[in-house]
Amino acid sequence: INIAREELRARLAECRRGVGFTGAGISTESGIPDFRSPGGIWSRFRPIEYDEFLASEDARLEDWDRRYKMIAEIRRAEPNAGHGLLAKLVRGGRFSCVITQNIDGLHQRSGLIDRQLVELHGNGTYASCLSCQKRHELDDLKVEVDEGRAPRCKACGGLLKAAVVSFGQAMPEIGLTRAAEETDSCDLFLVMGSSLQVQPAASLPLMAKRAGASLVIMNREETHLDDLADLVIRAPIAKVCESLI
Ligand code: NAD
Repeated sequence: INIAREELRARLAECRRGVGFTGAGISTESGIPDFRSPGGIWSRFRPIEYDEFLASEDARLEDWDRRYKMIAEIRRAEPNAGHGLLAKLVRGGRFSCVITQNIDGLHQRSGLIDRQLVELHGNGTYASCLSCQKRHELDDLKVEVDEGRAPRCKACGGLLKAAVVSFGQAMPEIGLTRAAEETDSCDLFLVMGSSLQVQPAASLPLMAKRAGASLVIMNREETHLDDLADLVIRAPIAKVCESLI
């Protein structure tokens, strides 16, 4: 790990326009399990598909119940050195942004503001109206859910849903476009904690390489893009990042 960490330190010191790309693996050391971890919220419940959410009040209530369990888990977590390092790189101007698949809001809590972050799968720490997009805070909706009603928008009466991209729901075009633009113009693409198995995660590192950037993959397990990377660090993220901050 030490040799790889020093090589990363040198690459970070040289880069002018890096991009961080994060998946569930960056938050496991904060106490939020990834998809595969046994016992995690994500593995215990079946996902509610978007069409089902739209069609059935029962499905909506099931989804809400799950969201409140997730938010409890997220609120117990604190950002770790991985989030901290990325926040420092962006705020110091060395990285242009962080693109994340996570919905836990830990990048914001480590100091990034909205325009420094592309949240491809949305954010589970608040809700938004499916009709007018107005933001609502989860704590304000809890009473309705506890009384057995799926919450409705206070402004237009539309359906409210946690602001995440559900299975079967299209990813917002604006996030995908921004992610592609940032990736295409970066000089270092740093993957942290993603199995790189779903789109667009699977293709962004390729896009970065094609644009001439160097690719660094920091992940506990092997990924199918390791052979393409200029540097692979197969170790726990927070542990690697602590001394880099
Ligand atoms: P994934 O679960 O498919 O892969 C995570 C990868 O991180 C794995 O390869 C694992 O080996 C690695 N990893 C786990 N802990 C690590 C650590 N401490 N250090 C280094 N590597 C570590 O995750 P994904 O690629 O992000 O896809 C899962 C999807 O599920 C995401 O799209 C996301 O929307 C959702 N999800 C989000 C969260 C969250 O917001 N924290 C948590 C679970 C799932």
